[in-house]
Amino acid sequence: MSPVRPRRVYIETWGCQMNELDSQRMAGQLMQQGILPTREPEEADIILLNSCSVREKAEQKVYSRIGEYRLFKRTRNDLLIGLCGCVAQQEGQRALDRVSDLDFVVGPARVGELNDVIARRQAGERVVATGFPEERTYDIDAVSRHGEYKGMVTIIEGCNKNCTFCIVPQTRGPERSRPFAEILKEVRHLLDYGFMEIELLGQTVNHWREPGGDLDFADLLDAVASLPGLQRLRFMTSYPRDFTPRMVEQVGRHSNICPYLHLPVQSGSDRILRRMGRGYARSLYLDLIGQLRRARPALALSTDIIVGFPGETEEDFQQTLELMEEVRFASVYAFKYSPRPGTAAPRLDGEVDPEVASERLQRLFQTQERIQREINQGLVGEEYDVLVTGWGKQPGTQMGRTSCHRIVHFAVDSQPFPLGGMTRVKVESALPHSLLGRLVVP
Ligand code: SAM
Repeated sequence: MSPVRPRRVYIETWGCQMNELDSQRMAGQLMQQGILPTREPEEADIILLNSCSVREKAEQKVYSRIGEYRLFKRTRNDLLIGLCGCVAQQEGQRALDRVSDLDFVVGPARVGELNDVIARRQAGERVVATGFPEERTYDIDAVSRHGEYKGMVTIIEGCNKNCTFCIVPQTRGPERSRPFAEILKEVRHLLDYGFMEIELLGQTVNHWREPGGDLDFADLLDAVASLPGLQRLRFMTSYPRDFTPRMVEQVGRHSNICPYLHLPVQSGSDRILRRMGRGYARSLYLDLIGQLRRARPALALSTDIIVGFPGETEEDFQQTLELMEEVRFASVYAFKYSPRPGTAAPRLDGEVDPEVASERLQRLFQTQERIQREINQGLVGEEYDVLVTGWGKQPGTQMGRTSCHRIVHFAVDSQPFPLGGMTRVKVESALPHSLLGRLVVP
């Protein structure tokens, strides 16, 4: 008798950390059924495309990928292909109508129902599991964190902000905070399994509130950071207007809260911020950064910026560049504005010529690259604790992250470090996007 071949799942993930965690949850549920992950789509029995719809390009990419994978069905008619993530929520039945070889569609709030969806498909139904049910299925044991150096924990789902450019409130639904006790239980569980770094996740992570209670994100930060064994605590994404002085105080109080914060500003111009419906002005943002830096002088900041938003003039863009010079971000994620269905911004006047937007984006990247090179040069000679996150591109090298989230490459001449382990590295040279160092022998 020939041995039974284990069934395999191939998962491709686009977009934010929340999608990464959703993919870990999907893999974990399938592993409980004996279906193992593979890196080779050709050998998979199930292909899951966990998509992002924040920009149009990402949405187009997932459809072209489905087009490639559906060809496998010519020789493998038992292969299942599922569209998951934000495009799944956005498209629903339309995706099944558009692609006849697509087997099912699962939105971000229905990830916990994957096994049920697959069983229904096997019984003949082309399933659309979208929408935002009151009751959420979330089994903290059914998360595959294999090969992960950090434990990600969702604390708040969805988003109630009305940024005029953003599709997230439609694809991830209204804000729902998880109960305090459940979050602490999951973090403890991860610490028991040896994770040294925990990342709390949410689209507006600092808007977390205890459901039906009085606790807010400052209380949660305090409680999580106080858990024994937790070496590094991160959280993302914070919304500038929701950051309170009590939260700043916690960032200053707990040394295991990483001195790194992602704080999307989107634009340096008050006029554009108003058109974006962000609900804060440039001065509030800069004032908050001042408070945070007083509380944690070594704080590294990163941000998101959109260029070419409707109505953005050269003067508005200059104000964004000036803000970057003033803040000196450790990294910047910048994007050309992409009109999204169901959002308000496409109705605004003042469309920016795509070539002008591309040219602004290039100038922004040049400015940021110079700033990063200058910042990183200033770190040469410093020693850091580095959490090992993977292998370097060169043989005999590994890479990791400092507590400020900077990437460090270093050579290992004997036993390599396990992923998620901690070591100490002295920085010897710097590039704009990473540091190069050598191990410090104790
Ligand atoms: N919830 C976070 C916030 O608003 O601060 C981030 C949400 S989104 C997943 C990540 C980033 O994508 C945003 O901060 C924004 O810079 C960018 N983004 C969102 N919608 C966009 C659009 N329509 N065009 C270009 N970039 C966009």
